[in-house]
Formats: sequence, C-alpha cells, structure tokens
Amino acid sequence: MTRQPLIAGNWKMNKTLPESVAFTRDVVTALAAHPITVDVVVAPTLLAVHAVAQAAEGTPIQVAGQNVHPSESGAFTGEVSAPMLKAAGCNYGIIGHSERRQMFGDTDEFVQQKLRALLNHSLKPIVCLGETLEEREKNQTKERVSSQLSIACQNLTAEEAARVTVAYEPIWAIGTGLTASPEQAQEIHALLRQQLVESFGKNVANTMRILYGGSVKPSNIESLIQQPDIDGALIGGASLKVDLFTDIILTAQQFNEQS
Ligand code: PEP
Repeated sequence: MTRQPLIAGNWKMNKTLPESVAFTRDVVTALAAHPITVDVVVAPTLLAVHAVAQAAEGTPIQVAGQNVHPSESGAFTGEVSAPMLKAAGCNYGIIGHSERRQMFGDTDEFVQQKLRALLNHSLKPIVCLGETLEEREKNQTKERVSSQLSIACQNLTAEEAARVTVAYEPIWAIGTGLTASPEQAQEIHALLRQQLVESFGKNVANTMRILYGGSVKPSNIESLIQQPDIDGALIGGASLKVDLFTDIILTAQQFNEQS
C-alpha cells in the first residue's frame, strides 16, 4: 500500500507576517523546477496563516493551524476556532503537540475534542503524540503512545479516521538534535499502525499517514522515510530554513518517485 508522503513544517512562534510570506514565496521558487507529488504543509503563526495561504494558492503548499479550540466561537480569550482556520485558508490543523501538552496543559481528552472540531469543519487533523525521555527509560513508550492514540481517536468512524494523520514525536528528540533511529521510529509506527488496523480495519489504517517528528533534517530524512510505516515528517527547526526544508521535501519526493 503506498501512501503519499506528507512533509509538514511547524514554524511555532517564529517569523513575522512579512517574513512568513517571503519564506513561502522562496520555497515555492525553490520547488518550481520539480513536479511535486508529495503533500507539503506549513503551519505559520495565526497572524500569518491567511497571508501564507494566499501566497501559497495554486502551489503545492498547503497551510495548517498550529492549534485550535474545540468550540466554534465564544469567550475564549486568545484562542482560535476551526471555522476561523478554515476561513483563513487552512486545510490542516496540528493538535496535541508536546509543547501544547507540556506548556499549556492540553490533555489527551482536550486533544480529542480538538480533533473532533477539526473534522467537523473539514480540516485534516495532524495529531501529535510521543513519550518523554523518562517514559522511554522506564519502558513505558508503547503504553503511552497507544493510550494517546486511542483517546485522540475515540468515537471516530472509519471514514473520519481516514482523514486523520498521526505524528509520532518522541519528546526527547524534539529540538534536541537527538533523532530516534529509523528502526526505533519504525517499531513505534508499526505499533500505531496495528492499533489503527484494530480500530478502523486494514483498508482504512493502510491509507492513514503516520509522520515522524524529532530533529528531522536533510541528512536523516532518507533513512526515516524508507521505513515501511513512516509516511513523512513533522519538522520544527529545519522547516525555518528554505534550503533545509526544500531539501527534505525533494528527498521525500525522490523516494515517492522510486516507490
Ligand atoms: C516539532 O516541534 O514538532 C519538531 C519535530 O521539532 P524539531 O524538528 O525542531 O525537532
């Protein structure tokens, strides 16, 4: 079963609005000579989402929100809703990022509500999960990621699940320069895939993408994406530099052409 790779850049709280638009244009220019068949997504700050979506119109780049609130509107100071992201030009939403979980108190249940909100507004969720270093050292990785996945995907129909992308991001590998080895990552991806098979059936589970995230860069993307259950990457640091981000995209593109 071939799944179209997805390369997603999470810019976090980086780049002003003009910088975000200029970066998008530079990536489009760098990719212009190549027919791009992998999916490319960028997640700018909320202030830049609309302008980036406009700059990316008609190009291979799609736009994601970095976060979403489960409610459609209301007294939630500082938050943004799924219909707002949609109207601003997003087609994806990142939820459950470890920074949201660790710094802003997002629980597994809250992530599940956010996932539901995205689906209800025809946005494709990229749901992040992963273990801490302490959990890995205590041999609790499988239990942790499995429970995060099952809560996030609770009550989904198979049709809804098919629109979900999972991102396995070991927290100890995010922004640290440490990467899970391709084999370590594949082991967890295979476990997540099996869980998706049990929940939604083989046909649906085999179409769902599972991304790896954690210090992905041009030098390691090839060995990661060659793994049978790694379907792309969610990238922080390396998505902020045009040459690094486009190198990663073009390597995934090459892999896609060969497979
Ligand atoms: C991330 O924050 O999701 C991430 C994977 O960051 P980095 O690529 O910088 O490790």
